[in-house]
Amino acid sequence: MTLKSYHTLDVQGKRVLIRVDFNVPVKNGKILDNTRLRAALATVKDVQARGGKVILLTHFGRPKGRDPLLSTAFLQPTLEEIFEGPVLFAPDGVAPSSVATTQHLQDGEILLVENLRFHAGEEKNDPTFAKELALLGDVYINDSFSISHRAHASVEGITKHLPSAAGACLLQEVEAVARALTHPKLPVAALVAGSKISTKLALLENLLPKVDFLILGGGIANTFLRAQGYPIGSSLVEEDMIHTAQQILEKAPLQDCRIVLPRDAVVAETLEGGNPHISPLDSITPTEKIFDIGPQTVTLIQEILDTCQTIVWNGPMGVFEVAPFHEGTAKLAQHVGSLTQKGQVFSIAGGGETVAAITSAGAANLFSYLSLAGGAFLEYLEGKTLPGVSALKA
Ligand code: ADP
Ligand code: MG
Repeated sequence: MTLKSYHTLDVQGKRVLIRVDFNVPVKNGKILDNTRLRAALATVKDVQARGGKVILLTHFGRPKGRDPLLSTAFLQPTLEEIFEGPVLFAPDGVAPSSVATTQHLQDGEILLVENLRFHAGEEKNDPTFAKELALLGDVYINDSFSISHRAHASVEGITKHLPSAAGACLLQEVEAVARALTHPKLPVAALVAGSKISTKLALLENLLPKVDFLILGGGIANTFLRAQGYPIGSSLVEEDMIHTAQQILEKAPLQDCRIVLPRDAVVAETLEGGNPHISPLDSITPTEKIFDIGPQTVTLIQEILDTCQTIVWNGPMGVFEVAPFHEGTAKLAQHVGSLTQKGQVFSIAGGGETVAAITSAGAANLFSYLSLAGGAFLEYLEGKTLPGVSALKA
């Protein structure tokens, strides 16, 4: 899908609304990770350089109506550091006083608007609210892939009222997924793991016809192993998904897709202090649980990845939060990172825990693209149409 690019928008002297996702993690009033704030730099700097007035729109948390604890005002000082200049604040959201503030902005100035979710119309995509919101600007840019799966007023409704386009981050993410799944270099491998099949079913179904290898790990693989008749002890398994797993195993060859399951595992009776050890699949005892893929499986997967040109990854292969069960995920993350750095593969990964696992393996900067979008990334990989993305079709 080709999107209208922000480069094509005339912004000179205009009030440019930029929808960002500044929903940063916060603890005791401190920002734990400002990646999402820095991500806005490319588009904001471009608009400033071309003489536009920047008006930043975001939500923060899940307020029910106006909630001073969830005001976006606290972002102001950090944004001033990042943008190296003053950032003004509009405390009244879409009220006429905010419209007046936008009309007094000088070219290149930056204004941050109060939490959009203080208005009930935002999440309801209320047409009247979308219209009011549009009064704050002359043109609109969506630069937040992570919110684009939501048909909210600042994501979808507003595009009906203003010339609209995609910002740098949104374009980058859409292009990365396209390079992985729409026009990938073949062969393509997808690693799908994590805790449950039920949350990844739509993803598996969509990937099956698109990829050459579907490599499974984590709790998802347990249910597949169970479907194949292996004793998997007390491992996490979804009984009601065993039949579905069987169907996927049967369907795969018809779609020219090879499903790769673990050959060995790292097992223990409990996560902590439970004598973790490597076990062949056929000798797991009834009280043991699979917490990671074993070394033989790691080698097998690495050999398959060596033959591929494109790698898509969602879901940690084991309980990476607890050592030594992080090892399978960490070794694969480093391997994919090194294949990427050698120029052998295009690699893309996403998902809350997946990104955390790849980051703690020290491989975050080695991938071609790491998506911070969580839910939106997953829905996009599932082949769903994202309202915020399709609203910007060229
Ligand atoms: P993401 O957030 O990246 O989409 P998921 O939420 O699907 O990933 O899955 C992540 C979780 O899966 C992790 O918290 C991890 O501990 C868990 N997990 C992985 N392998 C296993 C396993 N063998 N048994 C139980 N939980 C597992
Ligand atoms: Mg998760």
